[in-house]
Amino acid sequence: MPGENSKGAEKDVVIIGAGAAGIAAARRLQAIRPDLSILLLEAGDRLGGRAWSVGRPEAGDIALDLGCGWLHGARTNAWTAIAGEVGLTVDRTPAPWNSGRRLQRDDAETHAAQQVLDYNRYDPGPGPDWRVRQGYGTLISRYGRPVPTRLGVEVTRIDHRHAGRIDIETNQGGLSARIVLVTVSTNMLAAGRIAFDPPLPEKIEAAVRLPLGLANKLFLRLANQQALPADTHMLGSISRGATGTYQLRPLGAAVVEAYFAGDLAHDLEREGKEAAFAFAGDELAAAFGADIRKELSVAAISAWAAAPHIGGSYSYAEPGASDLRGVLAAPHDERIFFAGEACSRARYSTAHGAYETGVAAADLIAGSLSKNP
Ligand SMILES: Cc1cc2nc3c(=O)[nH]c(=O)nc-3n(C[C@H](O)[C@H](O)[C@H](O)COP(=O)(O)OP(=O)(O)OC[C@H]3O[C@@H](n4cnc5c(N)ncnc54)[C@H](O)[C@@H]3O)c2cc1C
Repeated sequence: MPGENSKGAEKDVVIIGAGAAGIAAARRLQAIRPDLSILLLEAGDRLGGRAWSVGRPEAGDIALDLGCGWLHGARTNAWTAIAGEVGLTVDRTPAPWNSGRRLQRDDAETHAAQQVLDYNRYDPGPGPDWRVRQGYGTLISRYGRPVPTRLGVEVTRIDHRHAGRIDIETNQGGLSARIVLVTVSTNMLAAGRIAFDPPLPEKIEAAVRLPLGLANKLFLRLANQQALPADTHMLGSISRGATGTYQLRPLGAAVVEAYFAGDLAHDLEREGKEAAFAFAGDELAAAFGADIRKELSVAAISAWAAAPHIGGSYSYAEPGASDLRGVLAAPHDERIFFAGEACSRARYSTAHGAYETGVAAADLIAGSLSKNP
């Protein structure tokens, strides 16, 4: 249905990508401009993107977050308040690393990493790290429910050659909009998965230099929960770089959450579930004895590098590329807008950073539409 002001375009605003940023933008626009016709297009078969909770009743009553899990900067994190609004429970148990049960690295590599500009700009905001009992993914997808959305629709081309109308090609046919907001990951942009006509080379160059790093999670079910201490954080090895970190019994549940990053994550994702299970079993057996293996089985595992519409976990800036976050976030021609975690100068790599970029884009879109009613 054409919106009142759409001047021949089918929709006022089409938002591409139903992750934290796209959902936040849509909700903001619904709140400040209820007169607009808005449509969210999502290539995958669910809302949330890199926020994805899977339920395992046998793992206790907590959800397993395959993507984001921690409300970083929780006191000021927008998602903390939204959790209450949508009827979910924020658990304020201090994160194990905030309560002193964490192995600190203090070596040359860590100090070197801290000299990189992007790293120094990272600031999740004040407040501790909290969790949503029903899952961060549950929270973000639930917040997206009131938004008109089409799942399974992959945008392949954005034709902005014509004034007043942007033509959007998808695997399910075409549609048009006055304004488009792009929230797909930098790896998708860098791979040219959406063609812009005319091209937007500065956006693609920014995305190339803000690639996604890889982190994956493996959740292990624990047959006898007494076998491990509750809510404890453990580093697999302090002598090897290729090691996992482990949340033992998060929120007291009979689960171990293993976290692999960097080259190790790539290797284990390529080798598959059994390899990841064996690796985690070895590291846990080294700490707790060989019998612990008998207690463990796989509950869930992520494979973010292979996720077809995402292609990794969260963005980092190549040396010298930190300012490209601003280049990526800048609107083009006041009608193609960009949002997503990689657009956040200080809260990149987080779900609340993604939220903030979505809200900021929505406010700019509203401003643009009121200038050109
Ligand atoms: C393992 C892991 C752990 C993490 N832990 C934390 C944490 O503890 N705390 C935290 O704050 N953050 C964490 N994060 C990061 C957080 O999940 C992300 O920063 C955030 O969810 C990104 O949201 P986004 O909207 O920018 O992008 P996305 O979630 O990637 O959303 C983009 C959406 O666009 C869709 N899409 C892509 N291409 C197309 C297309 N052509 N057409 C239509 N749709 C398309 C995708 O399917 C996707 O749903 C973690 C991430 C991972 C992977």
